[in-house]
Amino acid sequence: MTFRGSQTVSTVMESPSIIQDEIGADRVMTDDIFDTTYIKKVDFKPPIKLVWRNVILMALLHFGAFYGLFMIPAAKPITLAWAILCFMLSALGVTAGAHRLWSHRSYKAKLPLRIFLAVVNSMAFQNDIYEWARDHRVHHKYSETDADPHNAVRGFFFSHIGWLLMRKHPDVIEKGKKLDLSDLKADKVVMFQRRNYKLSILVMCFILPTVIPWYFWDESFSVAFYVPCLLRYALVLNATWLVNSAAHMYGNRPYDQTINPRENPLVAIGAIGEGFHNYHHTFPFDYSTSEFGLKFNITTGFIDLMCLLGLANDCKRVSKETIMARKKRTGDGSHRSG
Ligand SMILES: [Zn+2]
Ligand SMILES: [Zn+2]
Repeated sequence: MTFRGSQTVSTVMESPSIIQDEIGADRVMTDDIFDTTYIKKVDFKPPIKLVWRNVILMALLHFGAFYGLFMIPAAKPITLAWAILCFMLSALGVTAGAHRLWSHRSYKAKLPLRIFLAVVNSMAFQNDIYEWARDHRVHHKYSETDADPHNAVRGFFFSHIGWLLMRKHPDVIEKGKKLDLSDLKADKVVMFQRRNYKLSILVMCFILPTVIPWYFWDESFSVAFYVPCLLRYALVLNATWLVNSAAHMYGNRPYDQTINPRENPLVAIGAIGEGFHNYHHTFPFDYSTSEFGLKFNITTGFIDLMCLLGLANDCKRVSKETIMARKKRTGDGSHRSG
């Protein structure tokens, strides 16, 4: 960890244009690039304060989702198809929306697409886009320090769900306040969702997934509530959390072996493309979050489709030369042929 981030500009072997490309210097927003100046307050360890409301709600949700597993055989095939559709839509609201568009500005989206992504983001109920993007930029900028909201150094449980069950470390709050979030504040869709968040999650995450199967194809209310609503919601949450936990612990580091995030294809499958995490933390502004385009990456396919339809543009990519140079300089050698 001693070399963390320091190679970005110091051991310059490549041309300046490659280094510029590596940090995405042409972007307006660069608050997702690792900040090497963070200094840990060594003797300071704040007490853990549980947020009991979240502990109880998360316990109830997971009991409900577990019960939902046993309801699957009783569900009509069309209800299961609906549950999968709800999973995909809510996952896209996080991956293509809160993550790749709003946290990293890795592509541009026209108004109808931004509205769609905000609506399906509410279906995922993972805090509003503004808060999600702020936490995520802090995660990248101060990754694996006390200022990282889900600091993976604190273990699998903390980085997976524990961080949501307790008060934030003061450094997370302090550093979060210093981020430039002007682009989010200027986005009317983001701020509208934030103002109407409670109503939007009630409708999109709970009412709609339950009522549609019950009303349109006579599914029993309890199956509709436990499978497409609770089970689907818990699965999307856990798929997202695995990026913060498993993909920070298990896998190769072909792009930068001095950082913890890893390439984890299983997480990529579950989180529809977000498991190539060593690549993503090395090049956070790449719209594909991966060197390999569509491989295990439904989100990239979705954004490509939106570009074809004229609803998205300006997808940022890292050049092959820059990737190769970075692999040679800081990778663990696991992509020898690459
Ligand atoms: Zn990460
Ligand atoms: Zn990210």
